[in-house]
Amino acid sequence: MTVSFSGPGLWYATRAAGLVTLLLLTLSALLGVLTAGRFASPTWPRFLTVGLHRNLSLLALVFVALHIATTVLDSYTSIQVSAAFIPFISSYKRGWLGLGAIALAQPTLRAAGGAMGAGIVIALPVTSCGLAETARVVRYLAEETAGQCGPCVMGLPALADALADLAYQGGRGRALDQISRLLPVIEGRGACRHPDGATKLVRSALRTFSAEVQWHDQRGACYGVRRDPLLPVPGDEEREWGWK
Ligand code: SF4
Repeated sequence: MTVSFSGPGLWYATRAAGLVTLLLLTLSALLGVLTAGRFASPTWPRFLTVGLHRNLSLLALVFVALHIATTVLDSYTSIQVSAAFIPFISSYKRGWLGLGAIALAQPTLRAAGGAMGAGIVIALPVTSCGLAETARVVRYLAEETAGQCGPCVMGLPALADALADLAYQGGRGRALDQISRLLPVIEGRGACRHPDGATKLVRSALRTFSAEVQWHDQRGACYGVRRDPLLPVPGDEEREWGWK
């Protein structure tokens, strides 16, 4: 069998890979929404949604790689590998290829103030408490360390306690003081970036939910903490938060 780089075979392959990628990413996004909404039924348990979501996302990455490889190899047009990662440098279909590259390019996202993230956006209902949801995620992060470095052994559990205090008990000043004391002590001190990921989340939550932070600090927990948790945090069902 011979492979021709000039016939229509690669042209069809690149388009087929692109279409399959689009389909897989759409399905993955839908499953992500179902995961975030904690969908489950007697015939469709939640682990099935979570597993399918993860595997479809990985399969989509394989097809993205295939799409890029066949596009570059196809001699019908001259497209460099760099055009897949640096936006708007391709002479062929510059706009469309540029948009595709933006979706992949971390430096571009960073320059625009963004970054590759978890790949999912969840809209919190107005009745949910953003602080409580963040406190639950930070507690999970504090429990998922290897327990080898100071920031993870000492810092993250204390940070998770302080955030839970603010979210569920009403901090009355002490929780906010504790959080602002801990953040700079934890940041940049771990052997890996796990603690920094947690502190970035906390800083972002304090900024985004600044009105809620004031409310909790001065008046105690809001009604949103009584809602069933929204974000799917492993092991959360067994945890008692004891709001008041
Ligand atoms: S900083 Fe990283 S390597 Fe160190 S204990 Fe935490 S997770 Fe483990």
